[in-house]
Amino acid sequence: MAPFDILYDEIISFLGIGALLEMYRTGDYHALLSLNGILSAVSPVIPFLLLIEVGRALVYKRFRIEDYKIPFLIFVANRFISRFISIAAIAFCIGLFEKYALFKTSFTWYWLIYGYVIWELAHFVYHYLGHKVRLFWCLHSTHHAPQSMNLSVTYAHFFLEAPYADVIRTSICILAGVNPPLLFFIMFIDGTWGAFIHVGENIIKDGRMGFLNKVILTPSHHRVHHARNPLYMDTNFCNLLNIWDKVFGTFQYEKRDLAIEYGISRPMNPNNFWDVYFGEFYALWKDIVKAPGIRNKLLYFVMPPGWSHTGDHKTARVVKQAYLAQQQAQPAQETVQPAAPVA
Ligand SMILES: [Zn+2]
Ligand SMILES: [Zn+2]
Repeated sequence: MAPFDILYDEIISFLGIGALLEMYRTGDYHALLSLNGILSAVSPVIPFLLLIEVGRALVYKRFRIEDYKIPFLIFVANRFISRFISIAAIAFCIGLFEKYALFKTSFTWYWLIYGYVIWELAHFVYHYLGHKVRLFWCLHSTHHAPQSMNLSVTYAHFFLEAPYADVIRTSICILAGVNPPLLFFIMFIDGTWGAFIHVGENIIKDGRMGFLNKVILTPSHHRVHHARNPLYMDTNFCNLLNIWDKVFGTFQYEKRDLAIEYGISRPMNPNNFWDVYFGEFYALWKDIVKAPGIRNKLLYFVMPPGWSHTGDHKTARVVKQAYLAQQQAQPAQETVQPAAPVA
């Protein structure tokens, strides 16, 4: 295959327009009436929004190559390896657990609602562990490294994260009876919405999306999730239906008086591919090396990021408690201040 053909195929595949082009070529648009047809019509939405986002940033001279460079490099690195392992992992989990399913479901609207609620729970479990178990944080932190929000962030993932997420999510869903066609349909909606919530402020400035902010998980909620502000850290783990964040107490609105600071709390270089991709592994390795005794060394793998064998913890919970205590103390201090003389 000539290099030009390879490049052409890669671009068509990235844009997700292969099926639409085929319809255009044959003139047969009947496929749009089927589920597959609808899926192929929706696939190009995110890549095109990304192009619009980059286009607008260029026109308004706000385009900064560093906002897109690292997610793009990661996308290229993940393109084949991650997708291949992920599909294999999903197929393996379905084969392994389908016979143990609690009951059988079919492709109907009520099972779709049931399936989606289970999927969100499974997503919550994977995502919560990704933030609370240091080893899993090493896999997930690549996604949190970018220090600005735009649609390219949706492609920034460590290559082993998707397989690990899919093993957890597929296993829980299949065991709970969500049948594979239903699961694939839910995965498609989740993937599309999960990409959209990374839309940058230059396309949708206010990510609250009106009344939807009260009902579903909006870009505003996910921006909060990507923040390193103490109040925002480790909140909003869901993807579309944020019921489980409300059930487990991890739900947090974006506050108008608290601007989001994107990124992770570790000092790092967000423009260095190696730091973004392997920085947390290196930090974990350094902590393990200096920890005394095998017990402490093993604890570093499973305890939350910021946990220390010395007892001087800097976990999200400790940092948030200190912040909230400081916030409570401040108004009290202000009240004891003498009133300013009236001029
Ligand atoms: Zn996360
Ligand atoms: Zn994200």
